[in-house]
Amino acid sequence: MSQFWSPFVNNLVPYVPGEQPKVTQLVKLNTNENPYGPSPKALAAMQAEIGDNLRLYPDPNCDQLKQAIAEYYQVPVSQVFVGNGSDEVLAHAFNAFFRQGKPLLFPDISYSFYPVYCGLYGIEPKPVALDEEFQINPEDYRQDNGGIIFPNPNAPTGCLLPLTAVEQILQANPQSVVLVDEAYIDFGGDSAVSLVAQYPNLLVCQTLSKSRSLAGLRVGLAIGQPELIEGLERIKNSFNSYPLDRAAIAGAAAAFADVEYFQQTCNKVIESREQVTEALLGLGFEVLPSAANFVFARHSSQDAAALAQGLREQNIIVRYFNQPRIDQFLRISIGTDTENAALIKGLQQLLS
Ligand code: PMP
Repeated sequence: MSQFWSPFVNNLVPYVPGEQPKVTQLVKLNTNENPYGPSPKALAAMQAEIGDNLRLYPDPNCDQLKQAIAEYYQVPVSQVFVGNGSDEVLAHAFNAFFRQGKPLLFPDISYSFYPVYCGLYGIEPKPVALDEEFQINPEDYRQDNGGIIFPNPNAPTGCLLPLTAVEQILQANPQSVVLVDEAYIDFGGDSAVSLVAQYPNLLVCQTLSKSRSLAGLRVGLAIGQPELIEGLERIKNSFNSYPLDRAAIAGAAAAFADVEYFQQTCNKVIESREQVTEALLGLGFEVLPSAANFVFARHSSQDAAALAQGLREQNIIVRYFNQPRIDQFLRISIGTDTENAALIKGLQQLLS
């Protein structure tokens, strides 16, 4: 609270980002970063951009990047929007589509930025409970609403909603924008981008922070029909007409073009996820079925907060949410083979 803040700012409840520790030598499995580096072609493209070119403003429309995304997804460039991380793309979407004077529906266990944006943009949040298996039930998304948003796969559960269920939600809500937040879709799910041509109310949001290992670059995107993209552009051009710098545009475009490296690293993460899951099951954990680059697991007898603390004492950090219904779970990002082995060894020690 401050006498200088407006009542609006006094009442904001901001997002608390996952911890980014300053110490090195940590096994860092807490914020779902990719353990493998970005494509070498993306690094080369960024390096080439850093020189005299930095005198010049970047392209405000980020055409080079939009074209690379359009090519990858085989959609028209007019269906692509890009921004400074998917957090920014999501913020623009909330601003553009969800300020309808009606509640926004989202799963009660999902990305904790959604209620924060509701606070920022004066939107009534209406969390919808997950079912007993921690799954999204499409039947629950039929109430009167001013929009719908959910991550697919969901976070932090990792559970995937099949495209048929996504379609059910789209069909039941033709008047609302349905935003599918696909931050983790490349680790085993089918993207709803294939539905964009059929559904004018669908907006798909993605990030380069996970499957393309560029969290530090801050690039996100949205794909939807031109009417929705134009809405996003109106907000963007009223806020920051240069959302991406020159290195980000060049690097992100090269990352999208390097399909081979992308597939290789995603496959490796998926393979490791299955190994980590097996090992956790062997240690007495229940592991929710994950289509993401992390697993969500609870132990049959040990307290999750104590396990997280015990791992931290061994310099291994995972994510613990002190939140109803999930306070016995740990969210563990998939790391390199060495990091995953350290995790399992650390847990073995705590459980023995
Ligand atoms: N959506 C979900 C579901 C996420 O977990 C994250 C990462 N924390 C984001 C969006 C934002 O990703 P970024 O801003 O790095 O693109």
